[in-house]
Amino acid sequence: MLDKYSGQSARQLSWSVADLFFFPLLFHSPSLQGLLHFVCAPFSKKVKMPHAYPFLSPDQKKELSDIAQRIVAPGKGILAADESTGSVAKRFQSINAENTEENRRLYRQLLFTADDCILPCIGGVILFHETLYQKTDDGKPFPQLIKERGMVVGIKVDKGVVPLAGTNGETTTQGLDGLYERCTQYKKDGADFAKWRCVLKITPTTPSNLAIIENANVLARYASICQMHGIVPIVEPEILPDGDHDLKRCQYVTEKVLAAMYKALSDHHVYLEGTLLKPNMVTAGHSSSHKYAPQEIAMATVTALRRTVPPAVPGITFLSGGQSEEEASINLSAINQCPLSKPWALTFSYGRALQASALKAWGGKKENGKACQEEFVKRAINNSAAAAGKYVSKGDNAAAAGESLFVANHAY
Ligand code: 13P
Repeated sequence: MLDKYSGQSARQLSWSVADLFFFPLLFHSPSLQGLLHFVCAPFSKKVKMPHAYPFLSPDQKKELSDIAQRIVAPGKGILAADESTGSVAKRFQSINAENTEENRRLYRQLLFTADDCILPCIGGVILFHETLYQKTDDGKPFPQLIKERGMVVGIKVDKGVVPLAGTNGETTTQGLDGLYERCTQYKKDGADFAKWRCVLKITPTTPSNLAIIENANVLARYASICQMHGIVPIVEPEILPDGDHDLKRCQYVTEKVLAAMYKALSDHHVYLEGTLLKPNMVTAGHSSSHKYAPQEIAMATVTALRRTVPPAVPGITFLSGGQSEEEASINLSAINQCPLSKPWALTFSYGRALQASALKAWGGKKENGKACQEEFVKRAINNSAAAAGKYVSKGDNAAAAGESLFVANHAY
């Protein structure tokens, strides 16, 4: 019987009974081999690789690639404001603000209502579940506000990292259970893209093959679920900066991790034009004694990406990963200036490197709202310039611009 989608008969996918019976004899008698081939030819078919059953219509593909393109349009990047309640607790502790639902709402409202200057700089905003259902002071749902301002609404859908048994402290990321249903709801509630963060560690014994394969597979499974719901998946295999490794080792590990992940995305039939990649930049470990120039970081990063990320992917939106605000802007600019061909948009999806100064300026106080927004606007403009390879550092030391934002074994 012919399959409606692939056009293949069931027999094409398996050995025929005749093949199996005569197979051992074929090796021993060339004349018998010829005769049997003639007799069995009508019944035998070689194993063929199956086609992907189309799971997205042309309209669905268009919707996904349009969303991805809008997020990474020239000069635009992503504001990652999807810190879990636990991560916000740590950030708020540093400014002596209480971690209440209302304080989280007030702080995020400041970011989302910042001056119109951010609009050419921010293509998308990633929210935490709680924030997707919060409202402005005058009762407008945050997703509606963000959309009206021309930015795409995103949602973090993973449920955090858990230990991977039998490894040296490595992890996988959970959250696939119920994801299909959650995506249906999130799409209805205004989310057009999603984020899922996996974590890999560089030590003398890691990342293990198991961690690489497991995290690649879970990212691919998440991505395919998102796409079935018209949600663009950002795949984030973050390689932590913890350690004293050099630039070369980070580049090597980044290449292995990305190559495995794109193999898994292919196995899961993920439509690459409707995805975004959120990787680490290739840097030396945080405790490495050697300091590399931005041009060296840029060359290592673009080389690793060119070796592993298909040109069908529309955009690469880096995480800041504990770099200071200034470092994150300088390195992004150097990456965009790197003299190798770069077939994707190369931009930012920063959490700490867009918010550290803003958070410090706010300090949890109502009267500091304007100062908080000014710092955020400044970082958005700087990173927009960096995404075009045009950021020139003025040695900004305002608020937290020069401060390392490194957090050991960072959780989100
Ligand atoms: P940082 O930019 O703070 O590294 O975080 C970005 C992010 O969204 C991590 O998942």
